[in-house]
Amino acid sequence: MSGLDEGAIVEAVDICRDYPAKDGDVVQALSNCSLSVEVGEFVTVVGPSGCGKSTLLNILGCLDRASRGRYRLAGRSIDGLSTRDWEKVRRRQVGFLFQDAGLIDGLSALANVTLALEYRGRPAAERNRVGRRLLEEMGLGGRTNQPVERLSGGERQRAALARILAISPPLLICDEPTASLDEDNSIRVVEILNDLCARGHTVVCASHDPLVIQAASRVVTMARGRIVGSDA
Ligand code: ADP
Repeated sequence: MSGLDEGAIVEAVDICRDYPAKDGDVVQALSNCSLSVEVGEFVTVVGPSGCGKSTLLNILGCLDRASRGRYRLAGRSIDGLSTRDWEKVRRRQVGFLFQDAGLIDGLSALANVTLALEYRGRPAAERNRVGRRLLEEMGLGGRTNQPVERLSGGERQRAALARILAISPPLLICDEPTASLDEDNSIRVVEILNDLCARGHTVVCASHDPLVIQAASRVVTMARGRIVGSDA
């Protein structure tokens, strides 16, 4: 019995993450966290600031490595992969949506979206066609050539979603995706995330926002580096 669930996209078992502390001691940011997420689920992780939500999301998104424990992403064990292979898994499997959208200032909304396709070697005509379509879908059809620093917070977040959709990753990791948005834009972002789950993507969010918590198909509660609850 491996303890790993073959049907899950995310299967983390007994994940621990230690950080070195100043006095030579260690901070146990995560202690024995086990989480399994099925394809199409919308999971929101909640808990007080400092409880380990971002640390957990970073490990699930292959931005950081666990100190101990086992992790399978999309059916593949991540433990022991070389940095190169680990980054390749991240690029293929994971999209990130952060509070500040993480767009490249100085570039237009379209260039931000098409850059993701350029990295994947797609021809220019296809990049532009797909980029324009996705920005249109996100309600940004009239803003394609605007430098992203001139977009509103809601528009920036939707441009970031268009960029994620361009690469269509199976897993979306969202850290406080609505924290800097007003209610209307938060509702819009949550609707888009729900729609993505309906299309077979999987969403794992950390959020304090009641809208994101209500939208989730499951709420996972953390406290002091541990998962202490999981409610559908
Ligand atoms: P949350 O996202 O729930 O606010 P975090 O995952 O950011 O919590 O942090 C969990 C714990 O790990 C906190 O005690 C935090 O201070 C600590 N921590 C996070 N990142 C680091 C780091 N790079 N070095 C040392 N401690 C860290």
